Amino acid sequence: METTCPECEATISLNADTVEGEIVTCPDCGVELEVVSVNPPELALAPEVGEDWGE
Ligand SMILES: [Zn+2]
Repeated sequence: METTCPECEATISLNADTVEGEIVTCPDCGVELEVVSVNPPELALAPEVGEDWGE
């Protein structure tokens, strides 16, 4: 299945076994994307990592 990068609008192919919540990397711009839906396939920008979570 294919969907579009929300950052650069490149076409991204997802594996058939991709599941919701999985993080994929855009091969075009390198941004990390979270799979928010698989039917239809939809991606959202993943939360930035490395932030201080307040602990
Ligand atoms: Zn991209």
